[in-house]
Amino acid sequence: MSEALAAPRAWLHARPLRRAALGVLVVLLLLFPYIDGNDADIDSLTNAATYAGLALGLNIVVGFAGLLDLGYAAFFAIGAYVYGVLTSFQVMPQWSPFWQPFALLGLVQKMNQGGPDLVHFTLSFWLALPLAALVTAFFGVVFGAPTLRLRGDYLAIVTLGFGEIVPIVARNTPSVTNGAAGLNGVQAPMLFGYNFTVQATPYYYVGLVLVALLMFISFRLRDSRVGRAWMAVREDETAAGTMGVDRTRSKLLAFAIGAAFAGAIGVFFVAKLQTATPDMFGFPVSVMILVMVVLGGMGSVWGVVVGAALLTLLQSWFLPDLTDWLHTLGAAIGNDWLQQIDLARSIELIFGILLVLMMLFRREGLIPAARGAAALSFAAQHVQGVQRGGFDREAAAAALAIPPAGTGNLLEVRGVTVRFGGLVALNKVDVVVPAGGVVAVIGPNGSGKSTLFNVITGLVPAESGSIRFAGTEILGLPPHRILALGLARTFQNIRLFANLSVMQNVLIGQHARLATGAFGAVLRLPRTRAEEARAEARARAIIALFGNRLAPRISQAVSHLSYANRRRVEIARALASQPRLLLLDEPTAGMNPAETLELAEQIKSLHALGLTILLIEHKLDVVTQLADTVIVLDHGEKLAEGRPDQVRRNEEVLRAYLGRAAREALDAA
Ligand code: ADP
Ligand code: MG
Repeated sequence: MSEALAAPRAWLHARPLRRAALGVLVVLLLLFPYIDGNDADIDSLTNAATYAGLALGLNIVVGFAGLLDLGYAAFFAIGAYVYGVLTSFQVMPQWSPFWQPFALLGLVQKMNQGGPDLVHFTLSFWLALPLAALVTAFFGVVFGAPTLRLRGDYLAIVTLGFGEIVPIVARNTPSVTNGAAGLNGVQAPMLFGYNFTVQATPYYYVGLVLVALLMFISFRLRDSRVGRAWMAVREDETAAGTMGVDRTRSKLLAFAIGAAFAGAIGVFFVAKLQTATPDMFGFPVSVMILVMVVLGGMGSVWGVVVGAALLTLLQSWFLPDLTDWLHTLGAAIGNDWLQQIDLARSIELIFGILLVLMMLFRREGLIPAARGAAALSFAAQHVQGVQRGGFDREAAAAALAIPPAGTGNLLEVRGVTVRFGGLVALNKVDVVVPAGGVVAVIGPNGSGKSTLFNVITGLVPAESGSIRFAGTEILGLPPHRILALGLARTFQNIRLFANLSVMQNVLIGQHARLATGAFGAVLRLPRTRAEEARAEARARAIIALFGNRLAPRISQAVSHLSYANRRRVEIARALASQPRLLLLDEPTAGMNPAETLELAEQIKSLHALGLTILLIEHKLDVVTQLADTVIVLDHGEKLAEGRPDQVRRNEEVLRAYLGRAAREALDAA
């Protein structure tokens, strides 16, 4: 244990160093305009900040939530035009008393150019930032909603379409956007009467503050219930749903917040350039932002900022210099081709090469999102961890807070039929689980056991029948609603959030029992802090129930765990949701006899604490030991039901399922 604890402590010691490095970086950035007085250089850094802001927004969509968006520049464009149109002289409706209150607020001015009185919009830059963020967030939801069912390639293609449509609309509505010629006379920001005009330095500082703010929001979101839900969706959408994450909501939120970032940055960009043309927001821009995210490290806040800064400066600083050197070299050695080369113009090719190199040598990006926990030492790995006698009763009661079982039937499955095309996976199946009971489902492979779990947890639709849980009809409800009612499950083919730590997996299990939303996550008020602290303490307590099987590995990615430990994490994750009914799909599959016994005793102690359990299990000794009732499925039909000893003796079951050899083995047992 002590060695395992040493690893996080080493990181703690490294922290002052990181803080010092960060301090130096901030001071250098703040002093930069005074160190390097060249406006072009300051402007290059401001552009780097612009792209860093965009990369941070796309990182929420692609890096956190795992949704590939190829049209992200569309939101950049919308934000830009919101500010451009509301500060330029492009759109000027006729004056009417309606505008009087806006004039008092300083948002519009009455103008007269000879004809009737007109309205000139004069939205302040500082108001435009949040306004554009809101408008683009709305468009994020509008674009996101129809694409949410899509994944991977399909989503990429649809977002690509949106990314193309927005500049085309801008080009083809000249009355609002002045078409391809672009908006003119966009207002520069004013601060306390000071006009930014076209100076480089004020924009530089605003850019720095914006990036710092967006980084802060990104960090806060990432380390919250909201960020965990995004990562759960990214890692395994189905499992996220069954663990209580509302996938639609979660994805829309990612789209909206990502879009809002781009909207605010769009305002900044246009205010700096004081013009907006459709060409500034085309497909190459979307691709460039995506390359920045991939280069820096998807999901890594620092990574994408560094990626954006590197690529922007590559374009404006290094490539022109390198081009000059090559020209000089060409002149020296008399090579015409070298003298004509222009690297900055081949930026797309260079991006492509960079991407290929990254994919080959460093897929996780320059600064990977997941800080890998150190592996356990040999001694720590081989501490004998066998736990006999199940969970510690008091610790488990405190950690799990299992709701009282109640009376009557907790789950009633009546006449449920599930068909996959021509295959009848379940045929009018009835299953009843009494409150506080343990019911086991057995049957040969392909008999429909896992399908039964899937239909109960809302993953596959039923053709007919009814499923009532604690008196509520749950057939047809989405998985996250079913979990919220108190029905948690594990999967036969373990479905954990592979790149997340043991801790994060168990925290996601609590998703439905926590309340923090996006605003709460960013503000992190005392209430939110307290909720997070409680959730972490609970997760630790649940993980600790498994003794030193999981506790030393709490910050390791679950993909690094042994098979048996993954099963334990999956059970811990399900228990974290405070279920009233736990569905275990072959929990001991892949475990050796000692581990099987250990887990069986743990399940027994869960039962003793009042948890109702529905279990699919192949190992008959486990079934006999645990279950009050055994249900035998065969070809999607219920073959028999009864106490374990009755089912064992049922001739039909023996013939259909167990076979002669198994029967003899049973008799001997
Ligand atoms: P068990 O868990 O008892 O081994 P399953 O419930 O996984 O069996 O499968 C029952 C039958 O349904 C099998 O024939 C399987 O191939 C089929 N099946 C399960 N899920 C699907 C699916 N999503 N699409 C098509 N067929 C499926
Ligand atoms: Mg199965």
